[in-house]
Amino acid sequence: MNAPHVVPRVSRRGDSLGTENAFVVLAEVNDLVRQGRDIVSFCIGQPDFPTPTNIQDAAIAAIRGGKHGYTPSAGIDPLRAAAAADMGRRRGLDISPEEVVVAAGAKPFIAYAIASVTDYGVGDEVIYPVPGFPIYESQIIANGAVPVPVHLRESRDFAFDPHELETQITEKTRLLILNSPHNPTGGSLKRGDLEAIADILRMHPMLWVFADEIYSRLLYDGEFVSLASLPGMRERTIISDGASKTWAMTGWRVGYIANKTLAPVFTRWITNTESCASQISQWAAVEAITGPQDAADAMRRSFLERRNLIVGLLNQVPGIDCKTPGGAFYAWPNVTEACKRTHCADSEEFRKRLLYEAGVAVLADIHFGRRVAGDGQHIRFSYAASPQAITEGVARIDAFVRKGGGQGK
Ligand code: PMP
Repeated sequence: MNAPHVVPRVSRRGDSLGTENAFVVLAEVNDLVRQGRDIVSFCIGQPDFPTPTNIQDAAIAAIRGGKHGYTPSAGIDPLRAAAAADMGRRRGLDISPEEVVVAAGAKPFIAYAIASVTDYGVGDEVIYPVPGFPIYESQIIANGAVPVPVHLRESRDFAFDPHELETQITEKTRLLILNSPHNPTGGSLKRGDLEAIADILRMHPMLWVFADEIYSRLLYDGEFVSLASLPGMRERTIISDGASKTWAMTGWRVGYIANKTLAPVFTRWITNTESCASQISQWAAVEAITGPQDAADAMRRSFLERRNLIVGLLNQVPGIDCKTPGGAFYAWPNVTEACKRTHCADSEEFRKRLLYEAGVAVLADIHFGRRVAGDGQHIRFSYAASPQAITEGVARIDAFVRKGGGQGK
């Protein structure tokens, strides 16, 4: 007799893992494209430029030069030195290479940071921005910590109210996650906000801060300020940055953090998981940081032009109201009225109908955490798309809304 076909169970941790809906919607879009549908896509958050050629050449030289093996888990010395100098210079800090650890993207450090400062299942709390990058909540839960959202509000240009933060801190709080410039709203934390946050944190010395500054070079209005540069904040702040967004290197997988106390812990995590980031990509990142910055500057200028284009166009669509995002490459318009006009129950129905009826792919606010009460319905555009795609995509949405959601395209 054959034994019954039994599949072993998946752990609660495995089951609890969330995902990044940008990847789910992208699969949906690819399916439609395969069926021959013409879709304008604004759903994936990555630069639409190729990696600059000087960086490509450095990678080829690394391959030809025999740079094929493992590297130290913390990364190759030249990259740690280059990242330390660059991160320090842009934040007015003196960062030493020993404080810096390199991984396969900035994303793994989110999990490493949570796992390094909270204990599983004992009620340790992590405060994180909502709407926000979905991996924060997913990793907080998978690591057995308690997620405590702090809400970003449209009325404050998508910065959170420091007083709201203050009310969220308890003796169980271990970590505060900040993200500036911010995904998905494009908002950023201004010096005044950061000073208010620092004042609160000084009263709570047991709290670590994960400063997700992956978009630090993509700020269009005002100066970039890191919490780490404010008095007393340096030691407790984990500065996270990387190559993905600044040099159009998302697929190369290079990210880096700086924190003196946690650097050895992160290094051990990497030894336990990835071993090291790709050696070839690490040499490419050395060139990205230390080589000419013309291409990175040109990409930034191009994002700024496209930001102005998309915000202008979106604000001409009836029922859509889009604030000007100060950084990253995301627009986060309020579509509450547009949902009403098109008889969509919410932003998620609006998103789906835009995809299937108008041929435009965006993400909905619920892909970035629970909607903030009283703040209405939002969708996210990644405007790292060509000006033609932006013009065509918004024109399709405009036609869809003006028809009251009838058969669009
Ligand atoms: N943080 C935020 C807020 C992001 O938007 C992203 C990428 N979408 C990352 C971290 C991860 O970037 P990477 O792993 O490519 O360095």
